[in-house]
Amino acid sequence: MAQINDNYLKLKAGYLFPEIGRRVRAFAAANPDAKVIRLGIGDVTQPLTPTVLKAFHDAVDDLAKADTFMGYGPEQGYDFLIDAIIEKSYKPLGVELKTTEMFISDGSKCDCANILDIFALDNTVAIGDPVYPVYNDTNVMIGRTGEADEKGYYKGLVYMPCNEENGFFPAYPKEKVDVIYLCFPNNPTGAVATKEQLKGWVDYALANNSIILFDAAYEAFITDPAIPHSIYEVEGAKKCAIEFRSFSKTAGFTGVRCGLVIVPEELEGTTSTGEKYSVNKLWLRRQTTKFNGASYPVQKAAAAVYTDEGWKETKAVIDYYMENARIIREGLSAAGLTVYGGVNAPYIWLKTPAGMTSWDFFDKLLTECNVVGTPGSGFGPSGEGFFRLSAFGNRDNVIEAVERIKKNLK
Ligand SMILES: *Cc1c(COP(=O)(O)O)cnc(C)c1O
Repeated sequence: MAQINDNYLKLKAGYLFPEIGRRVRAFAAANPDAKVIRLGIGDVTQPLTPTVLKAFHDAVDDLAKADTFMGYGPEQGYDFLIDAIIEKSYKPLGVELKTTEMFISDGSKCDCANILDIFALDNTVAIGDPVYPVYNDTNVMIGRTGEADEKGYYKGLVYMPCNEENGFFPAYPKEKVDVIYLCFPNNPTGAVATKEQLKGWVDYALANNSIILFDAAYEAFITDPAIPHSIYEVEGAKKCAIEFRSFSKTAGFTGVRCGLVIVPEELEGTTSTGEKYSVNKLWLRRQTTKFNGASYPVQKAAAAVYTDEGWKETKAVIDYYMENARIIREGLSAAGLTVYGGVNAPYIWLKTPAGMTSWDFFDKLLTECNVVGTPGSGFGPSGEGFFRLSAFGNRDNVIEAVERIKKNLK
């Protein structure tokens, strides 16, 4: 009998989004006339922009003719895309990257999960709380943890609470940690990191020979010019950080699928016998063996984001979502709620009124306002008492949802 990887059995059966779906379906079945507005799941709603779409179509047409047909591409991605990202997205930040330091992928979720392949199991790993569940669950799946305790903390992982007291920014753990996940702008809290704050973590990592896994999936939503878009804006970060980016939220690619990982050539880890070894080499080996590249039309579409016209259109969609964020943030704040995020991130993290639990507030919003959000406790124990609303809805729905909540809370 083939034995399974029973680390998977430690996972608490897909609790969050399935449970939201179950409650929404039950409510909709009992109230067929209710117009339910969903500001829960972090998926975008606006279509691909015209310039991106044209590049996508043109690339598909290339595949239709023998002389322009493209088969397997480089596993690390095409240079036309890598060069465009380096020139248009990193150079303006003062970050110089080599093409060999960038790896194009089919999205950031897979990258955040797959990166664990190249690190030893006995590393001590630190994650935020609340957190993007992928970091937690992939560490459980790969066998780095024991069982979860009654709060939901897995034995063997170090959790860094992010709460009102610390401004949703993690403090350095008491124990020494080897791998640290940081996500800024943050999902779910919408918090951002200043350059000084990031420098603190870079200095910590350099002093402790740790590696930071920096998830910058929401960097395009930063509006404050003082907030860094890349961890490499901090000196020394190339020696201690891997950065993840995604076209999903930036350019509406949640269904198209394209992301990227930066693994600087200066970045080193140690072997079990204590010698230094290039992390870039390991990731290249991993990708060339286990991945065959993002598709050619997808990479062409992604490259079009960085043309002048493409970026103007993409930026307009981002501005649209950020105007939604402003409407939600200001509306709920006027209704007397304490709200965080929504300024440099497309998420609003609100404190539930009168100390309600996250799920009680979910039920109240669903049944009384017919608005769906995400209970903060689903992202980790420190999310209890908070609630996430996403700015990715369409404008009319956002306005109506805010009006309903305002009226309800009066
Ligand atoms: C949406 C999101 C991603 C991107 O995932 P894709 O697989 O690229 O769609 C990565 N990290 C966080 C925190 C996210 O919310």
